[in-house]
Amino acid sequence: MSAENVDRLVLLGSKGGPAVRPGGPWPSSSLLAIGGRTIVVDCGLGVTRGMVDAGISLKALDRIFVTHLHSDHVLELGPLIHTAWTAGLAAPVTVYGPPGTGHYWQRFCQAMEFDIEIRIVDEGRPDIRDLVSVEEFGEGLVLEDGGLTVTTLRVDHPPVTDCFALRFEQGGKSVVFSADTALFPPLAEFARSANILVHEAMLADGVERLVARTGNGARLREHLLASHSFADEAGRIASNAGVKRLVLNHLIPADDPVIGEADWIDAVRKTWAGDLTIARDGLVVPLSGEHAASGEETA
Ligand SMILES: [Zn+2]
Ligand SMILES: [Zn+2]
Repeated sequence: MSAENVDRLVLLGSKGGPAVRPGGPWPSSSLLAIGGRTIVVDCGLGVTRGMVDAGISLKALDRIFVTHLHSDHVLELGPLIHTAWTAGLAAPVTVYGPPGTGHYWQRFCQAMEFDIEIRIVDEGRPDIRDLVSVEEFGEGLVLEDGGLTVTTLRVDHPPVTDCFALRFEQGGKSVVFSADTALFPPLAEFARSANILVHEAMLADGVERLVARTGNGARLREHLLASHSFADEAGRIASNAGVKRLVLNHLIPADDPVIGEADWIDAVRKTWAGDLTIARDGLVVPLSGEHAASGEETA
């Protein structure tokens, strides 16, 4: 992982849902290096460790985007910024998220008040509450700055209404994140011709096994079917959008030993014939579009 400044997507946490299992993948977080910026997309548990393991200095933290406030996307937002702060973060950080993000951040700082106050006095650190600003967004244009454009699209993730797909564009390159969503046809227009579409995905067989394994089976199945997409549905969006590469991410299930990459590929090939990546924690996907980084498995 040599070139620090190569435009790339790094999948830090690739599983859907908040559970973690021994040796298994981590909940949702990604890193987008584009035009010299370091952008974090979603902050599920493990995002801090994932960034460090990807060779990214926490002090490089610049902009953070949160697609929605489900814990597998936001649980480690505060701890990530706080850890960067104790590591010497001195430049301002902006967090972009749906309504409620500011409330989360304010209450996180309250919960950590003892530690924050003591480090300011004892270690001479700047006040973390002054370093961080939160911008809550709705649908549409969120940011236009130095050639970077970020737009959002409200997707279909009941019962959460404020859940947004994100489109990042810079220097003719574009990366789109579906966020968590049931099959949502307008995403195809939103993701039109993107270099990379990162779309969430489930496997039907895996969902049945997951439902059988957990105590709350029927309710869980109901939620998954109403609020998430199957792999072939993600493939349909990618085909309709004419993207260059589809990345299946937020995998459900992500840690079932019976389900492997071949199963995901089988499912998505029904609807998508183009470049494909099945996410795995730590996987690097260059934005150039030609080739995968070493260690990446593509099909
Ligand atoms: Zn999720
Ligand atoms: Zn969700």
